[in-house]
Amino acid sequence: MESNPIKIYEFDHFKNSTGIVHCVFTRSGGTSIQPFNSLNIGKNCGDETRAVAENRKRIIGKMGMKPLVFLNQVHGDEIKVLKKDDTDFAVNFEPGKDSYTADAIVSDMKGIFLVIQVADCQAVMLYDTRKQVIANIHCGWRGSINNIIGKCVTKMVDSFGCRPDDILAGISPSLGPCCAEFVNYKDEIPQKIWKYKTGDKNHFDFWKLSVDQLIEKGVKIEHIENMNLCTKCHTKEFYSYRAKKNTGRFACVISMI
Ligand SMILES: [Zn+2]
Repeated sequence: MESNPIKIYEFDHFKNSTGIVHCVFTRSGGTSIQPFNSLNIGKNCGDETRAVAENRKRIIGKMGMKPLVFLNQVHGDEIKVLKKDDTDFAVNFEPGKDSYTADAIVSDMKGIFLVIQVADCQAVMLYDTRKQVIANIHCGWRGSINNIIGKCVTKMVDSFGCRPDDILAGISPSLGPCCAEFVNYKDEIPQKIWKYKTGDKNHFDFWKLSVDQLIEKGVKIEHIENMNLCTKCHTKEFYSYRAKKNTGRFACVISMI
């Protein structure tokens, strides 16, 4: 008997919103063997191509066989914009493939599912309830330093006329301040971010930084939901690069329906 069902998490405010569906997958429910067990959707982490393809099929199935847009994520600050009037999507989309090289994606198209893959990095999902625009952002510490979250909110404003106070935001399970140790922070992290260092260890609260970057752009604090789940503290459910370098990626997916 199959005893490996897909298990998901959801944000309360997105769950209670009409017009969108979303899913934070875990590592349960896939076909990959150790150390990628089992629902790894990351192509570049050493797992078997066939297992990743099957896992991607499973999450596509779970989302209702709709087009899932995967990105080739490179820890940069490129933001892909998909507009419903463009032919871009029809030309570039291939099921199960990484359609664009970018670390964030913004769209006003209904029925396409934006996927971010993570293992410690944050997936930050945004939804403008008035303008009907969604975004999904891959934000690791490099993304935090580059403020890809703030840039993505600006992109929503500039490309679609969004108002930040209409935007709901969700921060996925990711590396928490309990485990985000940066021994070489003086070389790696700009001084203006040192105020996010917590306690007397070299730990950083990148969750707080993300919340502040959203607020700085005008997103209301009551519209920001952090799952407050640290991936390194919960390796049975999530992949964590800090816990084990040779590991998979779990999927965070959002779509307007
Ligand atoms: Zn932790």
